[in-house]
Amino acid sequence: MKNIQMVDLHSQYLKIKKEIDEKWEEVMESCAFINGPMVKQFQADLEAYLGVKHVIPCGNGTDALQVALMSLNLKPGDEVITTTFTFIATAEVVALLGLTPVLVDVDADTFNIDVSAIEKAITPKTKAIVPVHLFGQCANMEQILAIAQKHNLYVIEDACQAIGATYTFSNGTARKAGTMGTIGCTSFFPSKNLGCYGDGGAIFTNDDNIAYQLRGIVNHGMFKRYYHDMVGVNSRLDSLQAAVLDVKLKYLDEYAQARNRVAAYYNQAFANCDKLVIPVVSDKSTHVFHQYTLKAKGVDREKLIAYMAEKHIPVMIYYPVPLHLQKAYQDKRYQHGDFPVSEQLCKEVISLPMHTELDEEQLKYITENLLAAIKYAAK
Ligand SMILES: *Cc1c(COP(=O)(O)O)cnc(C)c1O
Repeated sequence: MKNIQMVDLHSQYLKIKKEIDEKWEEVMESCAFINGPMVKQFQADLEAYLGVKHVIPCGNGTDALQVALMSLNLKPGDEVITTTFTFIATAEVVALLGLTPVLVDVDADTFNIDVSAIEKAITPKTKAIVPVHLFGQCANMEQILAIAQKHNLYVIEDACQAIGATYTFSNGTARKAGTMGTIGCTSFFPSKNLGCYGDGGAIFTNDDNIAYQLRGIVNHGMFKRYYHDMVGVNSRLDSLQAAVLDVKLKYLDEYAQARNRVAAYYNQAFANCDKLVIPVVSDKSTHVFHQYTLKAKGVDREKLIAYMAEKHIPVMIYYPVPLHLQKAYQDKRYQHGDFPVSEQLCKEVISLPMHTELDEEQLKYITENLLAAIKYAAK
């Protein structure tokens, strides 16, 4: 049996090696490493795939979020609402810009922002909501956009884990993750669903003025060559990464199908285990399973992970600590018990290997061992 990894980038690479190697050679021959034709090609192809007017490539997903916030003319102290159960980058950029992250709890089933908590968190200083499409399915965008419209707020989608997921509104309109709010952000970190072979990211918008701002900000706040109208950053997607991404974009939907097949195998294997709660898929969003995350109830999670490690099966905890309990984000506003759903999830969640190259033999081995581990670690 092939070694089991959380993400198997090498096996995936081998399947597309010829295409990737050819494109890399093309970039090497051209030596157009920055802002070359490959970047423009990928940008256009991603715009077409997403059905969005503007894609602005940048250096990584964290930069995408930061630049998105920088484009909106916010003032220090303005408040940005996001969830406490996410990767740190979502709130990090808010704090770095001198804005105030206002955290809310998540829905226990989907792990996405609890929409009913958003309105309660809105104050006169609130300027934006940052829903995170966690683990690969979209937050409840219909309601989030309605709240944003009512209170005149921007919506910045953190779609770093959900590129390719589709959300369907009640009027039947279907939109891709990251293209519904004011601005959408994604990451091309290697382990993401559309991952490059280094760092990369992109920002999406349908708003021409915001797109103009975003393009200037990623390029040192420069709108006319060597005239700097605002303090910007240097954040670029390089041509070698764009080449990888342009190849992999063609397979993105196939990759999502492969991930869904893995999820279906897991779901079936765990359906009758009363100590495991399988992922809940919203009826409004497709799921691209960036992670396959279970809730383990009534088990000693450390013992379970140790058992799996003995069997050479990696099991990860996304995430062990909610943002409001992170040391760097200690804040008099928040304490233990403020966000009970997220705090409970941090104690219960486990994520299993999830990637496009898992085969039946590996899945059988993983599921059988997890069921055994559950018995072993039962409390
Ligand atoms: C990966 C990720 C980011 C950051 O992306 P990088 O490319 O690593 O900077 C931000 N938010 C979420 C939810 C992510 O999963």
